[in-house]
Amino acid sequence: MKMDNREDLRLFSRSELEIRLSDSGIEKYRAGQIIKWLSRHADSFSQMTDLSKPLREKLEQDFYISAPKSVERFCSKLDSTRKYLFTFESGDCVESVLLEYNHGFSVCLSTQAGCKMGCRFCASSGLGFSRDLTSAEILLQMEYITRDMLETDPDFRIGHLVLMGIGEPLDNYDNVIRFLKLANSPDLFNIGYRNMSLSTCGLVPQIRRLAEEELPITLSVSLHAPNDKLRSSLMPVNKTYPLSKLIPECREYIKKTGRRISFEYALIGGVNDTPECARELAQLLKGMLCHVNLINVNETKSNNFSKSSKEARLLFTNELTKCKINVTSRRTLGADIDAACGQLRRKKLEGAE
Ligand code: SF4
Repeated sequence: MKMDNREDLRLFSRSELEIRLSDSGIEKYRAGQIIKWLSRHADSFSQMTDLSKPLREKLEQDFYISAPKSVERFCSKLDSTRKYLFTFESGDCVESVLLEYNHGFSVCLSTQAGCKMGCRFCASSGLGFSRDLTSAEILLQMEYITRDMLETDPDFRIGHLVLMGIGEPLDNYDNVIRFLKLANSPDLFNIGYRNMSLSTCGLVPQIRRLAEEELPITLSVSLHAPNDKLRSSLMPVNKTYPLSKLIPECREYIKKTGRRISFEYALIGGVNDTPECARELAQLLKGMLCHVNLINVNETKSNNFSKSSKEARLLFTNELTKCKINVTSRRTLGADIDAACGQLRRKKLEGAE
């Protein structure tokens, strides 16, 4: 968030900072030095010891380095999952998760404080929307997770990132695209676009816009139902962008980008997990370069949903496989620390009421 008239240093790429510094009469090459300090996790100008004191004072007049007001950490006892609750000066809070897989560490980040979309199965629903996060505030989540991990693991590095935390990323389009570019920057986190995933509940115009960006990220579309009646009852966004608009747009996205889409499907016992639903889903996705990722629904206080039984899950998977749809199942990690999106924030906000 912007404080007084100064600008957040974390918002700039190296080339942008070069231009901005020369506007202030500062040599361009200083941008490289400053970005290097940021990549080494500096959070104050006084740490930038290869810059002269007068230069640091001048920088401080024009810029600041954003930081959260507090960061709370929750470590799972069941696996290496860590969850972080970030509170900003504005009082808004968001959460992020660090997950360890065979291929390395992955972070799941929030893009908005709250969400407007109102999906019934989501812990963020019903808490309203506060504001969009800036690209710097999305980046900060990675920054503080990295700092925390470096304390015990000097080789720690984030390999993958997913935008699947609080908020609808495509509803905060410009900040999210800027963030992806910053995270990809070799000067900062240097994460390849192919190791980034963005999850959307299905905002059709923004999916079309994303296809034009030429960013080879993975697009995940939260589907959760194979027909409009059921989907609209779970996800209000479906009334604006029904499957008859969403699925053709996804086909177009694949055609334009050549990238496979991942469809997220949270199995809810007795609601969307029948073999009929699986067959309807297979029909909907027929011939698409895609895969279906089955997840467990979050059982939260705000919904009365329960997970599918093992048998129902197996039947559902088998039906999809029979219909030649690629299907994977996501493991549940960090079950003891409310690792599902939005649960920590909900607890904090409800506790504050
Ligand atoms: S699932 Fe995502 S889009 Fe839906 S309400 Fe939750 S945060 Fe928003």
